[in-house]
Amino acid sequence: MSIIIKSDREIAAMRQAGKIVAAVLEVLKLDLRPGMKTKELDIITDQELEKLGVKASFKGYRGFPASLCVSVNDEIVHGIPGERLLNEGDIVSLDLGAICNGFHGDAAVTVAVGEISPQARKLVQTAEGALKAGIAAAFCGARLGDVSAAIQYYVESRGFSVVREYTGHGIGREMHEEPQVPNFGRLGEGLKLKKGMTLALEPMVNAGSWRTRLGSDHWVVLTADGSLSAHFEHTVLITDGEPEVLTVA
Ligand code: MG
Repeated sequence: MSIIIKSDREIAAMRQAGKIVAAVLEVLKLDLRPGMKTKELDIITDQELEKLGVKASFKGYRGFPASLCVSVNDEIVHGIPGERLLNEGDIVSLDLGAICNGFHGDAAVTVAVGEISPQARKLVQTAEGALKAGIAAAFCGARLGDVSAAIQYYVESRGFSVVREYTGHGIGREMHEEPQVPNFGRLGEGLKLKKGMTLALEPMVNAGSWRTRLGSDHWVVLTADGSLSAHFEHTVLITDGEPEVLTVA
């Protein structure tokens, strides 16, 4: 397994990519409203990325047809934007990657469409909190399992489950680099985190069982039991101090 330690120049490019991803996600959050088609969000994404002169990471990746992944309610990740209308009460995960000077930034947020149920709100808050808990554990010298376990504990202690078949990942010149970063694990296990590693942490949290199924388009991943799912992601740099979140505006 080869873990790539980034140079200062590479980190600068990733900071720039991360800033752009965060800025575009902010625009999408403000624009999102009931009655909108999910493909409208993808169109806005392309317009914003074009203004900034950068390319989307996902478009064309293994044939993925859009720049933004839009996953609604029981869809966990990799939803293809299309004709689906967003309704009041839906939760929508927006996952975006962008490439700057050859380096990727990758982030996701789950957004409420209008008023959502208390259960949905708790789920979204838990997924966001799990990401924070994972980041808080991503210290130089800690083990990867410490990050995974922090996420898993945060989620399961609130009565929800973490998806197992899909994980966070190293990121840099490639969108998916070593190592995989599972959202479940054991304290003290796995590789030791080192300064200069860049990881995309991305808890995917289900209200029901952790089991998943693949949708008929062979892209979208859904909860097997039809329960709601929420997803948050940041690209994070391991430093010799506090972990640095790169996907911030
Ligand atoms: Mg990712």
